[in-house]
Amino acid sequence: MAPQSAYPEVLLLIDGAWCPAASGKTLPVVNPASGEPIGSVAHAERPDLDRALEAAQKGFATWRKTSAFERYKTMRKAAEIFRARADAVAPLLTLEQGKPVAEARQEALAAADVIDWFAEEGRRAYGRVIPARSAGVYQLVVKEPVGPVAAFTPWNFPINQVVRKLCAAVATGCSIIVKGPEETPASPAELVRAFVDAGVPPGVINLVYGVPAEISSYLIAHPIIRKISFTGSTAVGKQLAALAGAHMKRVTMELGGHGAVLVFDDADVDAASRMLAAAKYRNAGQVCVSPTRFLVQEKVFDDFVGKFVMAAGKVKVGDGLQPGTTMGPLANTRRVRAIETLVDDALKAGAERKMGGSRIGEKGNFFEPTVLTRVPKQARAMNEEPFGPLAMINSFGSFDEAVGEANRLPYGLAAYAFTRSAKTATAVAAEVETGMLTINHLGLALPEVPFGGVKDSGYGTEGGADAIEPYLVAKFVTQSGI
Ligand code: NAD
Repeated sequence: MAPQSAYPEVLLLIDGAWCPAASGKTLPVVNPASGEPIGSVAHAERPDLDRALEAAQKGFATWRKTSAFERYKTMRKAAEIFRARADAVAPLLTLEQGKPVAEARQEALAAADVIDWFAEEGRRAYGRVIPARSAGVYQLVVKEPVGPVAAFTPWNFPINQVVRKLCAAVATGCSIIVKGPEETPASPAELVRAFVDAGVPPGVINLVYGVPAEISSYLIAHPIIRKISFTGSTAVGKQLAALAGAHMKRVTMELGGHGAVLVFDDADVDAASRMLAAAKYRNAGQVCVSPTRFLVQEKVFDDFVGKFVMAAGKVKVGDGLQPGTTMGPLANTRRVRAIETLVDDALKAGAERKMGGSRIGEKGNFFEPTVLTRVPKQARAMNEEPFGPLAMINSFGSFDEAVGEANRLPYGLAAYAFTRSAKTATAVAAEVETGMLTINHLGLALPEVPFGGVKDSGYGTEGGADAIEPYLVAKFVTQSGI
């Protein structure tokens, strides 16, 4: 069934069937542009989770025996179905999450590309043959799917946070229970629907929503689940990693960041300010790889700030469904409160306000694109992930000073650099502690390149050839000819 244009009552997917929770309970879904309820999502509890676990076990038994080629064909079909539905899915995503509909459509199309890429990659889950010491002996390393996966995904990219986990599992022959984002449930459900409509067998993909801590504590500890993948805050990630460790479960963690941006005095300031303002206010800054701590060399500081503020001034804030909107509301009221608190704290600490800093209106979660300069290091926003439309621009003198500041925080997800010097670019690549670094352009998050962090930003990658490895186990088989 194709997605409806009106916001749907979102159901659970268990064992191939869309169903309400056994209790009949639901959670409300609110439009962040209006603050009004727009629908509901089924609220899974223990009996639903038990059914999902049983289904995932059954789905795994079927899917692991399905050839990589058959899995590839099903996934390619899902990609085609989802791509064809991008225009219908985009307004649902905007209604529940707030981002401009063009960005929402882009997210859906990017997800289709991710499905295609993982479909292909699943066919290359190669093992290897190790030369034996005796004639007639084969020593084989066989890659097998790890088993049923539990995945926990957030609300900032409701489709794209699911698709990478889902695809790595499905491509390798695992089954999966996705705990989707309760605040933005319809668009990820449409992603899952594309797989169902493409013919993925019952139980291979299960989708639940509910109280995150209740679901994660039950699923992570459950013996049927063999692997955990989580995207969200570092604080929650550490709790879930600890629980997974207690139960000897494999883990992939995509956690918070505090993107450092190094702009050197030989950079193309026009291009850097334009690109970085677009990156900063995309999805209202609710992006784990968002540029946040801008470090600009003294000679070009004023020039950069002026041009960045001019570019930020062109951002049109409004309802994501209105034509021309380039930044929607924040996804929930928690973010509005958080950004207000961080901005106030930074101003009290002595930061200079160049632009914005306030909530817009009383209705919906709208916030001004905000630029602060000369923000003291002790300000909370210089240490905590703002996850909102806040750019902080400080100056630096030397290369070592810039790198020292970039590496000061425990985060290490994404970093940015702008310089015309190959020597400086190479030195930045060598010295900055980060999982991803993009120099002189914006080049992160393609399906074929690694996506992941170091330090408190987590471990594992959800992109590139390495992304399927955490979903595979190596079995060693040694065999002698009779
Ligand atoms: P939060 O930290 O409570 O939740 C973050 C995400 O984790 C949500 O999707 C939530 O459902 C989930 N979660 C929370 N507790 C959980 C648990 N015990 N088990 C399983 N999942 C759990 O708060 P929030 O207000 O939703 O987000 C706040 C912060 O989270 C943001 O400021 C940002 O730092 C981080 N975040 C990061 C990403 C990312 O892409 N890495 C996405 C969303 C939020």
